Amino acid sequence: MATRVNLDLHDELKAFGGKDLDLCYNCGNCTAVCSLADDGGSFPRRIMHLLQVGAGERLRHSVEPWLCYYCGDCSTQCPRGANPAEAMMATRRYLISRYDWTGLSRRLYLSNAWNIAAVLLVIFSVLGIFGVAHGPVVLDHVALNTFAPVHWIEFADLLMGGVLSFFLLTNAARMAYWILGDQGVPRIPPSAFVKAVPEFVVNFATQKRWRRCGTQQGDATQNRRWLTHLILVSGYLTMFVLIVLFLKWFQTDTVYPIYNPQRFVGYYAAAALLYGTTAFAIGRWQKRDEIHKFSAGTDWMFLLLLFLTTVTGLGVNVFRLAGWPMATYVTYAFHLAIDAAWLIVQVPFGKWSHFLYRPFALYLVKVREMAEQAAREREEGVPAAA
Ligand code: SF4
Ligand code: SF4
Repeated sequence: MATRVNLDLHDELKAFGGKDLDLCYNCGNCTAVCSLADDGGSFPRRIMHLLQVGAGERLRHSVEPWLCYYCGDCSTQCPRGANPAEAMMATRRYLISRYDWTGLSRRLYLSNAWNIAAVLLVIFSVLGIFGVAHGPVVLDHVALNTFAPVHWIEFADLLMGGVLSFFLLTNAARMAYWILGDQGVPRIPPSAFVKAVPEFVVNFATQKRWRRCGTQQGDATQNRRWLTHLILVSGYLTMFVLIVLFLKWFQTDTVYPIYNPQRFVGYYAAAALLYGTTAFAIGRWQKRDEIHKFSAGTDWMFLLLLFLTTVTGLGVNVFRLAGWPMATYVTYAFHLAIDAAWLIVQVPFGKWSHFLYRPFALYLVKVREMAEQAAREREEGVPAAA
């Protein structure tokens, strides 16, 4: 079947952040130095080639951009300064915008104005809802659960979680359809979808492949980056679990002793988020590492919203302990508004979706391998395993 050429792909990728793609002369140096290319294919060289020839359809079927963890080794070793690492990053942004059937990702990635407007719209909407639908305002002591009854907030959390999951999962389904629908993938036995689940779970929880890339920069540098990322992830996953699954236990007017898990689990999440967001913001500001040389508006927005969510969450706790009712209520409303903006704009449509798509890509690779194995066995006449 003929490959359809998208003459605009090259320019499109530049709009998504690809730098100097046209300088690449396909020498393959980048693939030779990439320590992750060994088991996933010949990236980033093949992707650079697809971008150069405008093979948008083949790019859409490709899993390789998700196998790159952006260590930057390929860019530092590229003799032409074609920035393949950033090209891989731009390709991931482009693919996110293709998976997203609403078209919102594309607008958010391509326009800072859209990004800022979307965030402000959510923030002011949530503040507006609070303005007209809060509970009684008690001023002689802090009564947060009277001002914002926990069952209302829990209902809103679950509703938002359901809607966001719908967008995220339907986008992931499109990703799977394209990657597994590639011409070279043989018939997939249904059991492969189940057997490959551990691959997703392990990589989702640990992002362990990240430790294997960046060998040119030394183990210590790469381990530090991986650990910082893991701490950040543990912070927002802990906060997510507390808020979505244990809100009634977490949001109380009773002040428990510091050694109570309700206090220290929350403090751990806040400390992890503050450390992770600050460390990554400093890295992006300093631009010393290859990985931080280029930052899109969405990268900054991701860190800023997460940082402000944490700071306002700590503010609610401090004002509550200090016994300042009005400061607690107002800060709480801002905290929820910023948190909602982060979740709604970043999770299904923005940078956070990497966190799902990367392990999901490894899951799909595993499914594909099992399908290939089954096809070989069929050809060789080996009876299928019970
Ligand atoms: S990106 Fe650089 S190293 Fe990679 S193939 Fe192109 S010119 Fe060679
Ligand atoms: S950034 Fe690192 S993992 Fe990604 S393609 Fe380049 S060398 Fe490989």
